[in-house]
Amino acid sequence: VSEGGTPSAVLQRAKEIVGAENVFTATSDLAPYVVDARKRYSGRALAVARPGSVAETVALVKLCAETRTPLVPQGGNTSLCGASVPDQAGTALVINLSRMNRIRQIDPLNNTMTVEAGCILAAIQQAAADADRLFPLSLAAEGSCEIGGNLSTNAGGVQVLRYGNTRDLVLGLEVVLPSGELWEGLRGLRKDNTGYDLKQLFIGAEGTLGIITAAVLKLFPKPRGVAVAFAGLDSVGQVLRLLSLVQALAGERLTAFELMSDFALRLVLKHRPGSQVPFAREFAQYALIELSDTQTAEAVTPLLESILADAMGQGIVIDAAVAQSESQAAALWALRENVSEAQGAEGRNLKHDVAVPISAIDEFLRVTDAALAAAYPGVRPVTFGHVGDGNLHYNIARPESSNEQAWLAETKAVQKIVHDSVARFGGSISAEHGLGQLKREEILRYKSAVEMDLMRAIKRTLDPLGIMNPGKVL
Ligand SMILES: Cc1cc2nc3c(=O)[nH]c(=O)nc-3n(C[C@H](O)[C@H](O)[C@H](O)COP(=O)(O)OP(=O)(O)OC[C@H]3O[C@@H](n4cnc5c(N)ncnc54)[C@H](O)[C@@H]3O)c2cc1C
Repeated sequence: VSEGGTPSAVLQRAKEIVGAENVFTATSDLAPYVVDARKRYSGRALAVARPGSVAETVALVKLCAETRTPLVPQGGNTSLCGASVPDQAGTALVINLSRMNRIRQIDPLNNTMTVEAGCILAAIQQAAADADRLFPLSLAAEGSCEIGGNLSTNAGGVQVLRYGNTRDLVLGLEVVLPSGELWEGLRGLRKDNTGYDLKQLFIGAEGTLGIITAAVLKLFPKPRGVAVAFAGLDSVGQVLRLLSLVQALAGERLTAFELMSDFALRLVLKHRPGSQVPFAREFAQYALIELSDTQTAEAVTPLLESILADAMGQGIVIDAAVAQSESQAAALWALRENVSEAQGAEGRNLKHDVAVPISAIDEFLRVTDAALAAAYPGVRPVTFGHVGDGNLHYNIARPESSNEQAWLAETKAVQKIVHDSVARFGGSISAEHGLGQLKREEILRYKSAVEMDLMRAIKRTLDPLGIMNPGKVL
């Protein structure tokens, strides 16, 4: 640590860079920035600094590099794997980007918008809509997460099936490198084969390779018609056959295809009493389907009805309901969206955010359900998720005969059964949420030494001092 690098000297210089009012050090001011969204990780920080411009961010990172001060880039702090909070050492500077929230430009003809990292996702969606365009990234945290965080976690959400992950929605980035140099890569090009695609390195890097300060995002035509249906089926295999049929007949109009098991739906009905299910009887599995189109709902709703009639004719779907109004569509979506909250009301369960190839989902669930039932008779999987992307939230609720404490003690053993099975089916142990602190050790079991070495080599090249979000991912 150089002389100018004592904690008080770093603080003093940080205050000179961003203004004293934008450097927080009091315990009460730090609290929202050092505890994660699920309150599983709680760290300590030297301070939180909130830059208001690229120049201030550059100056802060240069200060950290010069004084070997670890830094934690942070957006809305909604990470679900402890990626956005400092460790317990109390030496890190949290650099929170929330003040950098300008939309720099919207270019409707190029179908792009250039935004700063601290823009809240919902504000970006609204700005796109105001320009008669769609920015399709959508997730439950959209009112508080920021685009810098979405990019750094390569967030997914409910429209990946049609528009891809965040990675697919970006054309250019502006990044402050760990040295403090600025990479100005804000290109709005759909074709640019001039060497390595550097922006992809920073997307999904969870703040370990640099601080994203701005991005050029892709915009799409705004859908005018949306049709939503809820279908009852008797197996996961039939759900996958339905997915294939809808893809064949609706093409890229298919924007969402979600699965929920009977147990997941029953939890919603138990803990959200106003919920309305459009069927008089229960089914083993349910699919929620959304089509959207630049044509009106009058055009797209009959298409969805005819596809479901076809599916019923083929014996794939047993019963289905197509929403006839926006409020009916919202009620059907609520069944799916309320699973997260309902499972919490039932008690703490063991969560897994996994992906397997779509063609393997049926067998993966059969094999893994059976392995868990053999190890823990009476275990209750809450199975739901973005099945159209091969992404399952496979959350395991305790057998009713067990108690919560005893069940939480099984976390590692249950995780091993699930993750080993995911690996056997060629899947991923983190489909959406990243590695952060939560899965940093776990990933070593499933990625090859070659792959881990490549990741470490990239980290060493870009961040030789190891100051950028240390202790996360690697
Ligand atoms: C209710 C809820 C629902 C969610 N639903 C989904 C979902 O459906 N799909 C999904 O994929 N995720 C989901 N998430 C998790 C998801 O990762 C975050 O919501 C979001 O993408 C993170 O954005 P953030 O601004 O909060 O980032 P933070 O939590 O602040 O940071 C996340 C990571 O990005 C880094 N980071 C943040 N900003 C920058 C920057 N400017 N430059 C470099 N690194 C940066 C941080 O260091 C950290 O590693 C959900 C979270 C919650 C709480």
